Amino acid sequence: MDMAKPHAALLSSPGMGHLIPIVELGKRLVTHHNFTLTIFAVTSPMSPAESHVIQSSMSPKLFDIVQLPPVDISGLVDANSSIVTQLSVMMRETRPAIRSAISALKPRPTLLIVDLFGTESFPIADELDMLKYVYVATNAWFLALTIYVPFLDKEVEGEYVHQVESLRLPGCKSVRPEDVVDPMLDRTNQQYVEYVRMGSEIPMSDGILLNTWADLHPTTLAALRDDGLLGRVTKSPVYPVGPLTRTVSASKGQLFDWLDKQPSESVIYVSFGSGGTLSCEQTTEIAWGLELSQQRFIWVVRPPSIRAADASFLTAGNASGDDPLNYLPDGFLTRTRNVGLVLPLWAPQADVLRHPSVGGFLSHCGWNSTLESITNGVPMIAWPLYAEQKMNATLLTEELGVAVRSKVLPSKKVVGRQEIEKMVRTIMEDKEGNAIRARVKELKQSAEKALSMGGSSFHALSELANQCEVRMQSQKAQAP
Ligand code: UDP
Repeated sequence: MDMAKPHAALLSSPGMGHLIPIVELGKRLVTHHNFTLTIFAVTSPMSPAESHVIQSSMSPKLFDIVQLPPVDISGLVDANSSIVTQLSVMMRETRPAIRSAISALKPRPTLLIVDLFGTESFPIADELDMLKYVYVATNAWFLALTIYVPFLDKEVEGEYVHQVESLRLPGCKSVRPEDVVDPMLDRTNQQYVEYVRMGSEIPMSDGILLNTWADLHPTTLAALRDDGLLGRVTKSPVYPVGPLTRTVSASKGQLFDWLDKQPSESVIYVSFGSGGTLSCEQTTEIAWGLELSQQRFIWVVRPPSIRAADASFLTAGNASGDDPLNYLPDGFLTRTRNVGLVLPLWAPQADVLRHPSVGGFLSHCGWNSTLESITNGVPMIAWPLYAEQKMNATLLTEELGVAVRSKVLPSKKVVGRQEIEKMVRTIMEDKEGNAIRARVKELKQSAEKALSMGGSSFHALSELANQCEVRMQSQKAQAP
């Protein structure tokens, strides 16, 4: 190991939406900023997709990944508790393993970067004399709400969803009560307590990394840095370092052979992230909406669930034996066989979105999916389901102008086939969609600029590297 290089330890919580951004941040730190790196990944026992990400990030081998199996939390949480509660408890209970794994590293890393669920490991960094950063792998507006929620907790009476007025965040766009993140839906639930805790722990870091770029949220970032506004809460510096998205693998096989034969920007890709599941009725309406739109499509289908919209989050890519194709309308597959592909459970999404034949994305608005769409210049239909996705949908439609959405939130009411047909046509071919298609291409360029040498995101990670060097120098000076 090169002793002159900064050495960072990155900690990822279970779930594809957490592992992927940590791995991509790791790649960037090594290839562009000369870091040595070890990733500690607490993984879900049941997710083949996570194992695949870990394996594929090993060639070329840029860093070590140490898998930390989650401890059994069955005696600590109810089996039906929310994903936020489960992840919080898993990460809390894994702390002894995290501590011994980091202490065993020689030489000791200078820096610990955790994701949103890892902030309770900050005391480990303090104890081991490491800088501590949090990577909030989503956008600036979500960060603003999260760090401000401990204040809202004191100011707002009753449930947030029952408020008449939007929730005000100093210097930022207000959040409509119907858009609040899942943990804020019920203040008596443990996930709310966990979320408020995270909001109060983030500002204890030495710095906050965001998977976005400066030009995407100038107003919110300014508020987060302004001591007269949210800066007095943030306290630590905020570094937008993105958009960091999955690098493409060799895209081969039937799916890509099919895509190669389709006209440019003619295919809409439909997928609800690693966790998204729909009701039976909604699955039927999407099938009809796609068919009526007469557009080419690729649809990643899962068996319906009425239990939760994020039912497959911790089992991504895992077949349950329940064939999702059984839930499609009679004759759908035969009638659409010349224009559509239906893929059970999982697709190589980053590669699909990068293909020139893809021209639209019906998405659950997970932030990774959102970035994968924007960085490929693909306009969206925003279909938020869980986590912070309702805020993301509002950002995409009302502020950034790169998506359309249904009149009523899909979590409140089944969206009918005619409305789906109309939205698909709008982003794919109607004149009405021209502005959206042009805007997303502008954002694609703006993202490329931010990541290029000397761009704002490149510069932000260089600052992080500088902080590490300063710490390494001072540690050397103090060494006996
Ligand atoms: N993903 C994929 N294939 C799928 C579904 C998801 O490769 O069939 C990837 C997707 O490209 C993204 C991640 O899984 O990188 C999902 O992250 P996101 O933040 O969009 O949503 P989450 O799954 O965390 O809700």
